[in-house]
Amino acid sequence: MSDSMKEVVESLDPVSRRLVPPNIDLGALVPLKTTLELRDNLSLGLAYVTRAPTRLTNDIVTIARALAGDDAAKNLPHLRRCSKPSDLPPHLKSEFMNEGNGRAIHTGKSNWLYILLGPKDEMPYDELLRGLVNVDGIRDDIFIGIIPVPLLAPTSQVQANMWSQQFWQTVYRKNNPLGPHPSNICRTTSVVSRDASIWMTLAHQIAKKSQKAGFGEPIGAVIIKRTVPGKSEAARGSGSKEDFAKADEAATISTSLELMNGDGATGDTTTTDSDSLDNVPIEHVAAETNMTIPETTNGVEGSNTYEDSTKPDSHESDTSALDPEAKETTQIVAIAADARWHQQTKTGQTGNPMAHAALRAISMVAQKLVRAEDRAKSEPGIMDFETFQDKPLLQDEALVFEAEHPCPDGYLCHELELYLTHEPCTMCAMAILHSRMGRIVFRHRMPLTGGMSSEDRGHDLCGASELCDRGPCGGGQGLGLHWRKELNWSMLGWEWETDDVERLTVDPHLHA
Ligand SMILES: [Zn+2]
Repeated sequence: MSDSMKEVVESLDPVSRRLVPPNIDLGALVPLKTTLELRDNLSLGLAYVTRAPTRLTNDIVTIARALAGDDAAKNLPHLRRCSKPSDLPPHLKSEFMNEGNGRAIHTGKSNWLYILLGPKDEMPYDELLRGLVNVDGIRDDIFIGIIPVPLLAPTSQVQANMWSQQFWQTVYRKNNPLGPHPSNICRTTSVVSRDASIWMTLAHQIAKKSQKAGFGEPIGAVIIKRTVPGKSEAARGSGSKEDFAKADEAATISTSLELMNGDGATGDTTTTDSDSLDNVPIEHVAAETNMTIPETTNGVEGSNTYEDSTKPDSHESDTSALDPEAKETTQIVAIAADARWHQQTKTGQTGNPMAHAALRAISMVAQKLVRAEDRAKSEPGIMDFETFQDKPLLQDEALVFEAEHPCPDGYLCHELELYLTHEPCTMCAMAILHSRMGRIVFRHRMPLTGGMSSEDRGHDLCGASELCDRGPCGGGQGLGLHWRKELNWSMLGWEWETDDVERLTVDPHLHA
């Protein structure tokens, strides 16, 4: 065991420490790709542009904003709002200068600007025209052009430069609209890799014990809480979605104007907190529970997916301000194995889906929270069959279950880390997401049934040489549920790769 790993084990509570075997097999963490990262990100749409003397720019932007609304994405924050005629891509220049009073506008001394109004689909043409007619100074010769624009932000400076030539001036904000920010992945990977092998070893251990006991498939889950000193919840989330949108809009306009004044020629606007902007998710599951769900923008930051990457050292400095000796600590919150066959007959069945390892582990966390609140227990119903199978069945599960929750505040699994022997099925993946898990690590991919990986899945992955005797199985696209823009929570995810640990083989059709 490496020294840093020994340190982690020694800092564990006595109960958890007893579970860790003397030998830990090492594995490497490979970050999961998102669905967007694996697909083409050049999605084009049409946008309206107009032109006006510089002094009218603000009036026109106000009209455009009123039509597009505050939704950040509809204001195309990665595209410059204004462009000098000379900065237009060549094909637009030659097209626009031949329309209306274009010739005069395209002379060197012109103080006219082209202004991007917004996506065509978001603004009714009649209303746009009505708005522009009210602006003194352009009324007599209203120009409205339609141009193709990239709808998603670029992922590199090279791409931004290319799009500036092909479409419209594009700003690269050093973020990744297609997934978690690379610097965040890098930083978090180094944190998690210090002890991931310990938790994965425990997950394997419980998986084998459950299989041996005949309770379930050899699948195991471990949930841990990592406490970074000085990193308080309150310090991380502030500002509403609207604030982000407005700050960004302001930044885009001011940068455009700076550029035209010859300043800020690098086009670097990373001083704004724009990283969060493209990815502000929509909260839509809050109603299904009466527990406190972290507020949306907090959730975004809390997920570690969208931390402000422009200040990579911010939490380190917080730490030193509080207690220079304070160290990161980790505690096991739940251990659970698959128990799908407990009280079930195996013949012709898939077992009890409620007893998948991830669901049992999450349920154990929930029970600890309820216990900490000291709520009156509801009388257990009289049932022959225990649907949820969320009481500890194995000794290791019980040991951890009986220990109190290290930090029983906040929503369910908010910011906790889940270590799984197998990629969770779609059902479990969504449950993990709904529980607000912060990070997930799993070992074996389940190409036919897993919900986390984003890679396309083949039809032949069950290993059958001919057509699978279960008929056409699997296939289709990976769902990549760990990080989807359209879902209201995201987490960082990794596969844990190792050649040193015995594989826990299950049927490829199985839903883990
Ligand atoms: Zn499952």
